[in-house]
Formats: sequence, structure tokens, C-alpha cells
Amino acid sequence: MSSINRRTPQEIWDIALGDLQVQVSKPNFRTWFSKTVGISYQDNQFVIGVPNTFAAEYLEKNQRSLIEKSLVGLTSPQVKVVFRVNGKLHQPLPDKDDTVMTPPPPAFTRLNPNYVFDSFVEGNANRLARAAALSVAQTPGQVYNPLFIYGGAGLGKTHLIHAIGQQAAANHFNVICTSAEQFTNEFVASVRERNTEDFRNKYRSIGMLLIDDIQFIGGKEQTEESFFHTFNELHNTNRQIVITSDCPPKTMPLLEERLRSRFEWGLIVDIQPPDYEMRLAILQSKARRKGVNVPKEVLEYIAREAQNNIRALEGSLNRVCAFAKLLQTTPTLEIAVKALEDIGGKDTATPDDVTPTMIIEAVADSFQLSRDALVGRERDKDTALARRLAMYLIRQETNYSLDQIGQALGNRDAAAVTNACKKVGNDINVSPFLKRKLHDIQRHIRPKAGSASLA
Ligand code: ADP
Ligand code: MG
Repeated sequence: MSSINRRTPQEIWDIALGDLQVQVSKPNFRTWFSKTVGISYQDNQFVIGVPNTFAAEYLEKNQRSLIEKSLVGLTSPQVKVVFRVNGKLHQPLPDKDDTVMTPPPPAFTRLNPNYVFDSFVEGNANRLARAAALSVAQTPGQVYNPLFIYGGAGLGKTHLIHAIGQQAAANHFNVICTSAEQFTNEFVASVRERNTEDFRNKYRSIGMLLIDDIQFIGGKEQTEESFFHTFNELHNTNRQIVITSDCPPKTMPLLEERLRSRFEWGLIVDIQPPDYEMRLAILQSKARRKGVNVPKEVLEYIAREAQNNIRALEGSLNRVCAFAKLLQTTPTLEIAVKALEDIGGKDTATPDDVTPTMIIEAVADSFQLSRDALVGRERDKDTALARRLAMYLIRQETNYSLDQIGQALGNRDAAAVTNACKKVGNDINVSPFLKRKLHDIQRHIRPKAGSASLA
């Protein structure tokens, strides 16, 4: 008990997050958990700070019991979680079983009012997707049906689909905007409650169906079946369907063929990662909307540093502004450098702060080699071993793809990385020396986390 009392709410939450990270999918974790904080713990109530109402609603509805489970051992068996948005307590929804009994909310209550076309910056990366979205929003059911939008995390799919919903709702279309996950939950509940008829009627009666993150549905046979019928009923009567996904229909794993072919009936558009100009334009727009005066050189710096996705870009801008506010001054280049130095700059797309460079340096140090030797062409025994360990550790410690790891280590190909990881994985089982070496390096990279992944 006493060790619990000595931990701050943030420390408790950090440990719980470590636990949650392995229980939910990576994109899910990144989206919903990465910006949360442990605020307080008192009288069995654990308060978690979240960035917006959306996150609060999502976590409340979908992750509450998982979160409470992960906190039980760290706090008390009776712990209850409360979410707080910008300092305000989020009104908890009734327990899951109760929600099934309450009537569904009006169709467009879940649309995020910030996600409109006006605030969606256009660039080469999303021009086609935006134009297609605008045209289905203005003339639903008449141009492309379905409209299928795909792209990586944090590139604006949800923003765009909500923008469509809002525009159509403003034109008095009866819109349902939901995620594939929510659709599934709702369907499962309707089966349990034996009111699948209500479920079908609800979806049959609408003018436009927006489904976010359809990849979630793959492999859930009954839900796929139900979605298939919903899709057909709506499509046959020219009602607009818009779907987003993290990949195109043809590479969606576990998706039934008949659904895949339907997704390909209409128009498929992608959203690519933003280029520098677009990142800068987005930052300018976000700063203006925040009403903060950020000098151009600062925005340029952020645009250069945060490269992969727009969510990370926004996060960097917020961080810089928060730093400046703390120091009671306007954002300067110096503040921006300071604010972004410990989130790994260019690597902000990974949830972790461990970067390949850090790992390569730690490995090089440990072998008393230079960093250049590791990324270079030397093939002596020590260098080759160190290089393999670096590949293995980057694979373990970050979300970098095999290709990216190969690149970080002197443009080697993915197959070389795979072989290295396999070899190290086998070797550590028979070589205590190697195992200890890895432990040491890992401790060096993340002193707190220790070496759980090797245990
Ligand atoms: P996804 O659903 O693809 O993971 P989101 O739609 O949630 O991504 O976008 C992540 C964040 O980036 C949101 O805050 C969104 O408003 C912002 N965003 C994405 N694309 C744009 C854009 N083109 N212009 C302005 N903001 C954008
Ligand atoms: Mg999304």
C-alpha cells in the first residue's frame, strides 16, 4: 500500500499505459491514449485528463472497463475512472448495458463541429479526396457511390468524413456518421437484445451513411453480413455511402469478397502524407484558428520537424504554444527547438520517444565503434554483430518498418533486416553474453522501462 501512496497519479497512469499499450491496437493507442495524463487519485476515483470531448466520449464508451482493469492492481479494486477535458469533468455515459436500452442519439450528434470543410486545408496530398468529398456532400447519392477514402493515420480521414456529414446535415439530409467499431457494437447489442429489426429500420431510414475506419469490420462475419445488407438497401435506393479505411479495399485483410467488390463500385481516393508546403499551410491555419501569433520561422521549423502526419503536426504546434505560454512570451524559434527536442522531432509519428538514431548511438557506444561504422559498409565480425543488434533493437523498441530500419542503417534492404532480427532472436537464446549485452544497451536507451521485451 505504501508504495502506491508514494506514486503520483501520473506515475500510476504511466504504468497503466504500459499495460494498455499491449492490449489495444497501435493506431488505437496512438489516437486515444497518447495524449492522456493522470491527474488525480482520491476516494477510489482516478481522474484522467484527455485532449477533447471526443476522446472522452470514445474512452468512456469503449475503453472504460479495460482502463479500470489496468488500474485495479495499481490503486484499488473499487477504482472508478473519470475523464476530464481541459479541466472540465466529462459527464459519464451510463454503463454499456444501459446504453443498449436508451434510444440512439439524433443522427448527427457525434459530428465534431471543428471538422468542417472550411478548416480542412487543401494540398497535393488530399486534393482529389477533398474534391470528391465536397461533391458527395453537395449532391449525395448522385455522383460517386460509395465514396471510399483511404490513407494512413492522422492524415484527415475522420475530419473529411465529418465535414461531409455536416454539410449534408445542413442541407437537411438525415445522416448517420459512425465508426465500423460502433456499428459492430450496435449490431452485436441488437442481436443480444433481439431487436435486430429496429437496428435495420434505423439504418434503412437514413439519407446518408458515413462509416469511419471500415477496416475494423474485417473478419467479423456477422457484422460483415449485416453491413452487406445495409449497404445494398441504401445503395439500391441511391442513398450516399462514404467509407474510410487505412488501406484500399484490395489490400484489406479478412474482408469478404462481395463487400470488397462493392467498395470498388464507386470512387476510391487516397490521402497521402502532406508535403512541406502543405504542412506549413496547415500550421498557419491552425495557428490562426487558435488566435495565436506564431512567427513564420517558427512554423517553418515545426513543419520541417514534424513530418509524418497532421495529428503530430498539430501536437507539435500545441506544444510550442504551451511552452511559450508557460514562459509568458510569444513563441520563438528558441522555444520551438526546446519544446520539440524531447519528442524526437522527425519521429513524432511513432508513439515512443525512442528513435533509431538513439539506438544506433547506444549500440555503437557499447561496442566502442563509431556510428558511421554501423551505417557504413564495414563487415568485420564486431561491426556486423553490432549492426544486427541495432536492427533487432530498433525493431523491438520502435514502430519503424523493416524498410525504414534498413534505411536508417545505411540503406540496407528489408530482407537484411529480417535476417538480422531472426539471427539475433535465435542467438540470444544460446548466448548469455549476447543477452546481457542487449539488456545493457536497452537499459541505456530507456532507463525506466528496463528490458521487459527480452525477459
Ligand atoms: P485520420 O482519421 O486520418 O486518422 P484525422 O481526421 O483524425 O485523421 O486528422 C487528425 C488531425 O489532423 C485532426 O485534428 C484534423 O483536424 C487534422 N487534419 C487532418 N487533415 C487536415 C487538413 N487537411 N487540414 C487541417 N487539419 C487537418
Ligand atoms: Mg480517423
